Amino acid sequence: MRALITGGAGFIGSHLAEELLKRGNKVCVIDDLSTGRLENVNHLRSNPDFSLVIETVLNETVMDRLVSECDEIYHLAAAVGVELIVKSPVATIERNILGTDVVLRLANRYLRKVLITSTSEIYGKSEAVPFKEDADRVLGPTTKSRWSYSSSKAIDEFLALAYFKEKNLESVIMRLFNTVGPRQTGRYGMVIPRFVQQALAGKPITVYGDGNQFRCFTFVDDVVGAAIKLMASPNALGQVVNIGNDRGITIKDLAEKIVSMTQSSSEIVFIPYDEAYEEGFEDMRVRKPDLSKAAKLIGYRPEIQLDEILRRVIEYFKDQKEE
Ligand code: UDP
Repeated sequence: MRALITGGAGFIGSHLAEELLKRGNKVCVIDDLSTGRLENVNHLRSNPDFSLVIETVLNETVMDRLVSECDEIYHLAAAVGVELIVKSPVATIERNILGTDVVLRLANRYLRKVLITSTSEIYGKSEAVPFKEDADRVLGPTTKSRWSYSSSKAIDEFLALAYFKEKNLESVIMRLFNTVGPRQTGRYGMVIPRFVQQALAGKPITVYGDGNQFRCFTFVDDVVGAAIKLMASPNALGQVVNIGNDRGITIKDLAEKIVSMTQSSSEIVFIPYDEAYEEGFEDMRVRKPDLSKAAKLIGYRPEIQLDEILRRVIEYFKDQKEE
């Protein structure tokens, strides 16, 4: 099988590329290195089954060739990270909606199977946890730019479902919940790399808001395994599927756990959301997936839990000198 991974030099994409190669596939990565990094895939470049194109998915001429040459497409290229999204709303909206439009149009032209990566941001500020795929979405006003991310990914989902329904395009949508692991950078706001780096440097751990917001962290290997199974599962076609971990923690407890695991001297400081992001910023209080659909369709259960995730991320940053 020859897989095309958009955003394949990113955190999740690079792990997916590695795993697909390990399983004997050919992998082509397209990445514009906006949030992806060459370091993530450098170790794969000597593999004859691996190829890398540094280009945006919005370049339709290049994408046309790449899609025509592959058997299946994992579409991961997107604007990611709440902080980045609040800072660059135009790029978020354009990259997410226009990028997915190109991918789906070309997948349809060459009849290629496609997996669209979506997000638990879709559920917005709903507190009806655990979130089921068909639950109502609860969003803030358009004047709060955070919600542009949720809305842009919702358009991606609508478009993929529309292609499936109207044109029988083989597509599946994977909604992710706080994926973490080695190679994730703290640069765009993600909390675990941030806290681990702060703790290792003895700097203050920056908890936003009151720290009682609740998140369920999913190890990247669990996500990669699920993506490959979803792509291979005929039952998953035309479906939206949550992939995550249903055990969670508050951000305040996460900060304490990381301080203790790194034996850090860092203090924990609380920063109001207005200061951390922008005035009037609205957070999601809880994110927790209902995983029964994923279990039924592909036998999914997350295998790696938080303590082990943190051990691996701490090891990773101890070996790095970045940022
Ligand atoms: N967060 C925090 N300090 C940081 C970065 C993030 O307290 O330095 C909080 C953030 O406000 C959110 C949670 O941690 O409530 C998870 O943030 P992340 O950006 O990792 O994921 P998301 O907001 O998309 O769930």
